[in-house]
Amino acid sequence: MEVKCRRLEGKVAVVTASTQGIGLAIAERLGLEGAAVVISSRRQKNVDEAVAGLRAKGITVLGAVCHVSNAEQRKHLIDAAVKNFGHIDIVVSNAAANPSVEGILETKESVLDKLWDINVKASILLLQDAAPHLTNGSSVIIISSITGYNPESGLAMYGVTKTALLGLTKALASEMGPKTRVNCIAPGFVPTRFAGFLTTNETLRKELIERSSLKRLGTVEDMASAAAFLASDDASFITAETIVVAGGTQSRL
Ligand code: NAP
Repeated sequence: MEVKCRRLEGKVAVVTASTQGIGLAIAERLGLEGAAVVISSRRQKNVDEAVAGLRAKGITVLGAVCHVSNAEQRKHLIDAAVKNFGHIDIVVSNAAANPSVEGILETKESVLDKLWDINVKASILLLQDAAPHLTNGSSVIIISSITGYNPESGLAMYGVTKTALLGLTKALASEMGPKTRVNCIAPGFVPTRFAGFLTTNETLRKELIERSSLKRLGTVEDMASAAAFLASDDASFITAETIVVAGGTQSRL
C-alpha cells in the first residue's frame, strides 16, 4: 500500500480484530498515515505476526490479545494503549462472527447470543472502557456490512446485527458528541477468510460481482481508505453517518 499523506501524525488508534483482513488493512493504513496503532485479535501468534509485519513497514505498533467478548481482555487492550501512548484518538470496532447460515427461526439461542455478543454488545462495552480516554476531536468507526441494509437469506441474523450497528452509530454519535465523532463503514463483499464461503464459490462470486456497478469485489484497501478518511480531520464535520463501500451494490437511496 503506497500512502503519501500523513493526516494522522500524533494520533493513537485502537483497532479490534486486526491481525488479518479488513482490520489489519485499516491498522496498516492508519499507521502509514502516521498514527500509532494498537492491534488485537484472539490468538497471540496472529498478534505477533501482524505486529512484526506492520513494524517492518515502519509503523509504530503494539499488539494485545483481545477476544472482544472477554471483558478482561477488552480492558487490557484499552489499558495497553493508554499506558504506552497516553491517550486514544481513534477506535475501530471491527470484530464480527457469522457462525450460522440457518434461517432466523431455526437459529439456536446460543448462536443468537453469540451473534449479539460479538457483533453488537462487544462494541458498546469496548467503547465504555475507551470513552474516558478519548481525546477532543476523537473518532470512532464501527464496521457494519452491506448486509445490514438487506439481511438476505444465509446471512440473515448476522445481517440483522449489522443493521443494529447502523442505529448504534446514530445513537452513540449523539451521546459522544461534540467530543467524539462516531461513524460507520458498510463494506460490500471482500474476499477475506470471513467471506470465503461466499467469495470462493465461483457461481456466488460471479453473482456478487454482477450486483456491483463497478463489476468487482471490494478490497481490504478500499475499506482502509474509507476508515483513514473518517479517522482524519478531513471528516471533521461528519458524524452519525455510514459510508457504504460496495462499488454501487444496492444498499439504500
Ligand atoms: P477476516 O479477514 O476473517 O479477519 C478477521 C479478524 O478478526 C482476524 O484478525 C481474527 O483473528 C479476528 N477475530 C475474529 N473473531 C474475533 C473475536 N471474537 N475477537 C477479536 N478478534 C477476532 O474478516 P474480515 O472479512 O476482515 O471481517 C472484518 C469485519 O468486516 C467484520 O466485522 C465483518 O462483519 C465485516 N465485513 C466483512 C465483509 C467481507 O466481505 N469480508 C463484508 C462486510 C462486512 P483471530 O483469529 O486471531 O482472532
